[in-house]
Amino acid sequence: MSDQYEKTIEPPGIRLGDLAAGRTRSEVISARPYWWRAAPPRATSTFPPQSTDVLIVGAGYTGLSAALVLARAGRQVTVVDAGVPGFGASTRNGGQVGSGNQKFRVKTLIAMQGERKAVELLHEGVAMLDGIEALVRDEQIDCSFRRCGRFRGAMRPEHYDAMARDMEDLARYAGVTFEMVERRNQHTEIATDMFHGGSLLPQDAALHPGRYHAGLMARAIAAGATVFGNSPVGAIARERDGHNVQIGNRTIRARDVLIATNGYTKNVSPYFDQRIVPVGSAQIATEIMPPEVFDRLMPGGRVYGCTNRVFFYFRPAPDERRLIWGGRVDHFKPETAMAAYAHLARDLLRAFPMLGDVRVTDAWSGLIGHSFDDFPHLGRAPDGVYYAMGYCGTGVSRSTHFGRKIALKMLGHADGRSAFDDLAFPSHPFHAFARPAVPLVESWYRARDFTGL
Ligand SMILES: Cc1cc2nc3c(=O)[nH]c(=O)nc-3n(C[C@H](O)[C@H](O)[C@H](O)COP(=O)(O)OP(=O)(O)OC[C@H]3O[C@@H](n4cnc5c(N)ncnc54)[C@H](O)[C@@H]3O)c2cc1C
Repeated sequence: MSDQYEKTIEPPGIRLGDLAAGRTRSEVISARPYWWRAAPPRATSTFPPQSTDVLIVGAGYTGLSAALVLARAGRQVTVVDAGVPGFGASTRNGGQVGSGNQKFRVKTLIAMQGERKAVELLHEGVAMLDGIEALVRDEQIDCSFRRCGRFRGAMRPEHYDAMARDMEDLARYAGVTFEMVERRNQHTEIATDMFHGGSLLPQDAALHPGRYHAGLMARAIAAGATVFGNSPVGAIARERDGHNVQIGNRTIRARDVLIATNGYTKNVSPYFDQRIVPVGSAQIATEIMPPEVFDRLMPGGRVYGCTNRVFFYFRPAPDERRLIWGGRVDHFKPETAMAAYAHLARDLLRAFPMLGDVRVTDAWSGLIGHSFDDFPHLGRAPDGVYYAMGYCGTGVSRSTHFGRKIALKMLGHADGRSAFDDLAFPSHPFHAFARPAVPLVESWYRARDFTGL
């Protein structure tokens, strides 16, 4: 193995004000995830073996979490990735760690699933958050994991009231602690007037996504798993006692296959193409700011989000006085990347107008995997391959948890049972149009966020 990416030298960067106004020059910004500076993805040079007991497709958190459990149980595990291991969202995300329980209002979840099932799902969400903390601690993964709490700002006064009612339900049904912060007090949390107050979940956490990925991969390898990059999986054919899997121009034999490709799922099998829609999300990182500026922005040092449908999220970098700001981006293509980053800069300046002269040094994007019912899914497809995916943008704890659960299922272990087991994994009759339609849907949601309709 050799490092393919050298440590990034601090690029000159571009003023936030200029980026927001579209006065952009892409060459002054690093286009790699900021996280790769501390944890550059490692290229691999050898080829996967001719046969393996378990083949895991995708070397992100899902694949590696599963690999760790399976290898420790004595299975021969081969993890392959089309890019460098960690090429996907697992080294590109915001490092905000939550339970995933805010994807639906509690009342909506109960209306959809009934109270008993809803409570089971909510409790498993809380367990995901506790589980990632335990994993990081037990495996001694050096990734700046911290229970820093999450502040979610209300974009409209009525959002604050709705959020307060939902938080009460979350406390009642899932035992989650929370605080509501009124607008007049919110400067204790954040130096902005953009929000109409917000909610605080003190148990939510942050980590360094790149270092978490590198640590998880190191533990999986130490447990006996092998990990290969540049190994795109094509067709998977079921045989009597296993699968023939095409990787590049070779075919390898695997008794069990796990698909862990989430937002990067494409052409592995029509079953998954019909169920997962990739959605773009992008982030920008600022230069290091002086303490007298930075320390006032987010005095709580938490992770932050908002109540918009097309939401933005942000946080301080774990070890430096930089602001990392992200959001869903529509129409994201490499050739229009700077327009997407300009959009993020405009949102950032709405929150913190005083930062117009601060420079953006890094900007990057990634894909999140959306399911059609907004639930994450794990299980076994009709052709016998296992899968875990569809985290809908809240995947740091979910993918770690689902990777472990699906591995336990593959081992036939009773602890593999999950409240998410019996949720049907819906396809959509118009799935072929869903991927191209994402920008239109996002534009529509953005318009509704703007008008409040
Ligand atoms: C910009 C961004 C910000 C985010 N922020 C947060 C956040 O703050 N908090 C949070 O909880 N979640 C966040 N997420 C979501 C979270 O990162 C993901 O849900 C999680 O990393 C998914 O992990 P995974 O292992 O399932 O998939 P990934 O990490 O995406 O890995 C999938 C891998 O599969 C590989 N692959 C695909 N097809 C093939 C093939 N045919 N053959 C071989 N390999 C293949 C890809 O190369 C990729 O490396 C964010 C996502 C993005 C993109």
